[in-house]
Amino acid sequence: MALNHQPPSFNPASSPIQHVVTVGSSLTKVGTVPTEINCPRCHHHVMTEVNYINGAFVWILVVILAFFFFPLMCFPCCIDQCKDVEHYCPHCRSFIGLKKRM
Ligand SMILES: [Zn+2]
Repeated sequence: MALNHQPPSFNPASSPIQHVVTVGSSLTKVGTVPTEINCPRCHHHVMTEVNYINGAFVWILVVILAFFFFPLMCFPCCIDQCKDVEHYCPHCRSFIGLKKRM
């Protein structure tokens, strides 16, 4: 019984080509304040609208304050500088990006 040990041949013309398609909104880098940007969806040049949401940083501060200084444990939920920031297009209302504190 003869085994045929030929190495697999590599033919660049027949190799599958992977196309990576990225959606602009997931890669848009935004800061913590409203930002001038070209909307990836409607292509208007807009100033983003921001929405502050409680992220991981807020909850970590809440837990720390609950252990060490209980009366102020809800304080981080009231401070925008502790929160994650969502950016939206004011023209088409599409989500543009998220700035996380952590
Ligand atoms: Zn838009």
